[in-house]
Amino acid sequence: MKFHVMTLFPEMVEQGLHTSILGRAMDAGIISVNTVNIRDYSEDKHRHVDDYPYGGGAGMVMAAEPIAKCYEAITGTSLPAGENGGDGVSENEAQAVASKRTRVVYLTPWGRVFNQDMAKEFAAEEELIFLCGHYEGVDERILEEIVTDYVSIGDYVLSGGELPAMVMIDAIARMVPGVLTNEESGETESFMNGLLEYPQYTRPETWNGKAVPEVLLSGHHAKIAEWRMQRSIDRTVQYRPELMDGVELDKKSAKYYKELLASRKKEEE
Ligand code: SAM
Repeated sequence: MKFHVMTLFPEMVEQGLHTSILGRAMDAGIISVNTVNIRDYSEDKHRHVDDYPYGGGAGMVMAAEPIAKCYEAITGTSLPAGENGGDGVSENEAQAVASKRTRVVYLTPWGRVFNQDMAKEFAAEEELIFLCGHYEGVDERILEEIVTDYVSIGDYVLSGGELPAMVMIDAIARMVPGVLTNEESGETESFMNGLLEYPQYTRPETWNGKAVPEVLLSGHHAKIAEWRMQRSIDRTVQYRPELMDGVELDKKSAKYYKELLASRKKEEE
């Protein structure tokens, strides 16, 4: 899978992603990350990419043109000229091109909040383009032209879209076949079955006076699976109870969940 990142800080993205599991996947050619410096497409002699906001207000806004040129260089396509430019591309032709074109994700605090289901969905694409904003944001007109998905990584404001793009690329790449080895399989991780992950332990058997739960040493696979499922339910109920609404539990786990809720209710009374 190919990731393209339009950014003012390509080194930040390259250095951040070329490590550990993703670095290995890049070296193996399973994924690639192409960072493109928007500043290289500025036609200004000082390589400016931002300007003052119309209407006044604090901060600077990233201009449309360098981003448009950067996008055209990545996709090898030209944006249809606007109403005043008129290059003869009809609306339908433009729509046809749009329907086949690579999805462009603009990272923004006002986008849809990223989650594991979105990571899985994006991982089905062969190619994705990310646009990282900076300063106060990006001229709306270029967003209207190229962006297909507006995505936030949470309800807070960061200085730029680079960290959010890296977060998304990491989560998406993990869903691409071949990126995780069998031992690293994502199947049992948090959110994969709608629940948070159960507690994990490694050697030694006793640390700081605390012993590993006995069932994990029993070698009894069914009992271990049952214990893990119950601890996943405990953790989800404690930290993210709203996730329980979308979870499908087998009969045994559903009974456990019901009893857990009843006992919590009793404790509260
Ligand atoms: N003025 C913008 C607003 O209020 O929505 C915030 C601009 S922010 C300082 C600069 C850039 O960081 C944004 O254009 C966006 O690309 C990125 N960014 C900041 N917070 C983000 C978040 N929670 N999720 C995704 N991108 C974010």
